Amino acid sequence: MDDFSSNRYYELFSKQKLNQYAIGSRSYKERLKTLNKLQVAIEETYRVQIQEALRKDLGKPVVETELTEIYAIIGDIKYAKKHLRQWMRKQQVETPLALLGSSAYIKYEPKGVCLIISPWNFPFNLTFGPLVSAIAAGNTVIIKPSEMTPHSSKIMASLIGDVFNEDHVALVQGEVEVSTELLKLPFNHIFFTGSPHVGKIVMKAASQHLASVTLELGGKSPTIVDKTANIDKAAKKIMWAKFLNCGQICVSPDYVLIDESVKTEFISSCKKWLQAFYNDNPKASDSYGRIVTDKHFERLSSYLENAKTLNAKFEVGGKMNRTSKYIEPTIISGLKPEAKLLEDEIFGPILPIVTYKRLDMAMAYINSKPRPLALYIYSKSKANTNTIINSTRAGGTCINNSILHYTNHNLPFGGINNSGIGKSHGFFGFKAFSNERAVMKQHTFGVTELLFPPYTGFKEKLAR
Ligand code: NAD
Repeated sequence: MDDFSSNRYYELFSKQKLNQYAIGSRSYKERLKTLNKLQVAIEETYRVQIQEALRKDLGKPVVETELTEIYAIIGDIKYAKKHLRQWMRKQQVETPLALLGSSAYIKYEPKGVCLIISPWNFPFNLTFGPLVSAIAAGNTVIIKPSEMTPHSSKIMASLIGDVFNEDHVALVQGEVEVSTELLKLPFNHIFFTGSPHVGKIVMKAASQHLASVTLELGGKSPTIVDKTANIDKAAKKIMWAKFLNCGQICVSPDYVLIDESVKTEFISSCKKWLQAFYNDNPKASDSYGRIVTDKHFERLSSYLENAKTLNAKFEVGGKMNRTSKYIEPTIISGLKPEAKLLEDEIFGPILPIVTYKRLDMAMAYINSKPRPLALYIYSKSKANTNTIINSTRAGGTCINNSILHYTNHNLPFGGINNSGIGKSHGFFGFKAFSNERAVMKQHTFGVTELLFPPYTGFKEKLAR
């Protein structure tokens, strides 16, 4: 047995461990009440403070905060409230002939004490999204948000303190050391959102207790634009999706793979839409954000330096300002395969364009890399779309749009291998935080009587 007594979070964990059965046995109505309380706190009490915190942490425009953080979570809560009764119900299953005389059902029971570790890019959404699923499923939760967005963490801590007792939900703030300490504890489930690199650390720690994990990771999400696509519409949607939150989105289109015959038209449309969205000077635009930290700014500027060294073509942008952590919306073509921009997840406002001669070459390129979280297809051809879907693998796909599959509660959200393990959102999130308990009830008599010795000739005959 590990010795946890020295762990300063052990006390909190122990309180939740003790309380988990009381929380887990709360009725549908009680869970609903908790979700309502959380909704009121977000929608009414803390709304303006959340907007201010995100402006301070990420320079996020209020409209973006409303759409991608507040509205998104309120949507999650409403959806959970609408479906909770059904999710909590016993799911009766059929009984095979060999078990005649019995009945069976699945009970979605809470996993127990859960840990949620969240990233900085949508600090509110990516903390409260999993929390809604976890409490709907009847768990207790310890949350560790990102240290990179301290204003958001502070507001979330205060909100959580108002809505929950700490033996139900508690938020602890801190850097990597805090995560490391928490990961030593024997949680029943760990829900981690962040980079594949840290995902491996989390999974290794979870393996010590055989805790189940949901890993919502990142990676390079490709966008294919074939020659049948409506190029102007594709450019508009890709420019919006790529530069939203300054490209700091896990499902941001990382790079574009485009049929070489439509590349020039596409780039000229991209320029037109960037001008329409952010004018000539995105730096002065209220609709354009900033890079989160100096470290991330340095990483992105090193990618641009690397592209220059390799003589890539800057089709749009390339300007930066270190003090304000500003990077202009940038589009680059002619990158050599070894360019950093084609190797690492970009997670910033830089879009590489890679051309292809034949569609099978584009798919081979994607399949030569780790499996992506999202794969986008812009095409008017049903045959091309089906071929791409059938010949590649990805966590999710959006056809003739980007990112928006994330917002449909009826779809599972998550990656595959390097881009993640397990799914979230709606029922899939509820399931991630639930144990599907198999329950079989034997009634007065059943064919299972035949199991008992002695194995007479008659029983042998029946078994055949
Ligand atoms: P990150 O992996 O650096 O950090 C995420 C969280 O892990 C933070 O709370 C951090 O404190 C903690 N952490 C960092 N190092 C740790 C360590 N060594 N041990 C334990 N915990 C540690 O990720 P980030 O920079 O905050 O976010 C960007 C990454 O997250 C990108 O790769 C992006 O694609 C991914 N992401 C994925 C999703 C998704 O839903 N799939 C959503 C947003 C971001």
